[in-house]
Amino acid sequence: MVYVIAEPCVGTKDTACVKVCPVDCIHPTRDDEDFKDEVTLYISPEECIDCGACVPECPVAAIFPLDELPAKWDAYTELNAKYYELKKTGDLDGWKAYQDAHKDLLTPKPKAEH
Ligand code: SF4
Repeated sequence: MVYVIAEPCVGTKDTACVKVCPVDCIHPTRDDEDFKDEVTLYISPEECIDCGACVPECPVAAIFPLDELPAKWDAYTELNAKYYELKKTGDLDGWKAYQDAHKDLLTPKPKAEH
């Protein structure tokens, strides 16, 4: 099982989670070049060790263990993984195309819609 960052992070990017993650598997960090380009943070499903430390740190309750992720945010599981599969392996065109095809996931929603 892994942890997933879902819609409440879009437009928030608080990064409190980054500070507590023992394996540095949440990106982009504020030190990453692409921090300003991304609208949300992502957890690497390959590196996450399921410790749960990030969950209580998130001020907008955006992080869930996979088996507790609300169904309406199912697509964020793939979104988190694709950031690492595509962007972090240098496939910037692939990541751009994926983002273009999933704009709905990457558009900040009014908080009342959560
Ligand atoms: Fe990092 Fe633990 Fe959160 Fe996984 S569950 S992203 S390892 S803090």
